[in-house]
Amino acid sequence: PNMVQESHVLRCFSRQAFQVQQVKKSMKWTCKVCGEKQSLMQEFGRGTAANCRRHVQKLNTLLFQNHESEVKHRCPVRSNSHAN
Ligand SMILES: [Zn+2]
Repeated sequence: PNMVQESHVLRCFSRQAFQVQQVKKSMKWTCKVCGEKQSLMQEFGRGTAANCRRHVQKLNTLLFQNHESEVKHRCPVRSNSHAN
């Protein structure tokens, strides 16, 4: 069967940065940036790793540039679209 590993977009409580993590059954995850282990509180998007990476780049750019007009425009990441 074609089991594609699903990824999702999470946000570190410490650095506030968004990042892509593989979806696991565990409700714990470890930040790639600072190594903090934390609980899965909120998911900001879900889909293929490629889609999530694009979404993270966008979110982090907005985060650091503080363009609030674009932050309001939420774009959900879904695995069944934009497969390229
Ligand atoms: Zn972190």
